[in-house]
Amino acid sequence: MADKMTPLQRHRCMSNIHSRGTKPELIVRNWLWRHGYRYRLNVKSLPGSPDIVLRRYSSVIFINGCFWHGHDCGKFKWPQTNAEFWRAKIERNKTRDRRNYKALHDMGYYVLEVWECQLIQSKRVQTLQALDRRLSQILLEINHRPIEYCSSTEIGTALAAEP
Ligand SMILES: [Zn+2]
Repeated sequence: MADKMTPLQRHRCMSNIHSRGTKPELIVRNWLWRHGYRYRLNVKSLPGSPDIVLRRYSSVIFINGCFWHGHDCGKFKWPQTNAEFWRAKIERNKTRDRRNYKALHDMGYYVLEVWECQLIQSKRVQTLQALDRRLSQILLEINHRPIEYCSSTEIGTALAAEP
């Protein structure tokens, strides 16, 4: 996608939040895989092409960059030039995200969002553990079925029929 930031501006926007070496998406992906989660990636047929789809958990995960998705975390600097252009663009992205999340929710998916700033070294473990707990919770929710007991009257009748 074409953008109007110079490489230097882009670097300034991103340098605070990009974790060294590993892309945020890979961090989450690798961690999930090591912990036994199995998933599909960038599923184009779903609204917003979720980064990770965990079918067994009826869940999708979006790993969002703080700048592009307008995270209110103060981890990026707004470009000084074309400020209006960028604000309008980010607003459109946010609106589109909300629309996609709603559509996915209506399809029965749990929508989980992981922000780039939550994956910096000092917060990473905490973030991934929280994700793990949330997924366990979801699995309990979707696997919950009313337990059908053998009707007690049937048992009673059978007992009563004993001589
Ligand atoms: Zn953020």
